Amino acid sequence: MEEKSIFQMILDKEIESEIIYEDDKIFCIKDINPAAKIHLLIIPKKRIETINDLQEEDKDLIGSMVLVAKELAKKYEIDESGYRLVWNTNEDGGQTVYHIHLHLLGGQKLREF
Ligand code: 5GP
Repeated sequence: MEEKSIFQMILDKEIESEIIYEDDKIFCIKDINPAAKIHLLIIPKKRIETINDLQEEDKDLIGSMVLVAKELAKKYEIDESGYRLVWNTNEDGGQTVYHIHLHLLGGQKLREF
């Protein structure tokens, strides 16, 4: 594992990025290269490299991340119009940052797949 993920550097203020939500376990930023009008990243402060590395003890954390996504969807007024939550895992899944994160995408009609 590399020493720090990009997301850890953002959390530690070594890389500039506005933190739009933060609690003791989770923080959230806007994606630097948005794939939709609204594209947020919900990130645990604890570094877990991929969804494959999740442990039983992470159950509450993952649940909390989904609840934060739900609240942000409401805050950004896309809860009724609709949105997509995505976890990319490893190369074929398109994962580029090996510190798990939940993508929240919306604000427009999303491409079907
Ligand atoms: P992944 O491809 O791993 O599922 O998602 C990583 C996401 O992090 C990408 O959508 C990418 O645009 C975003 N990202 C990478 N580096 C930065 C950064 O320095 N700041 C922000 N705000 N987003 C980043």
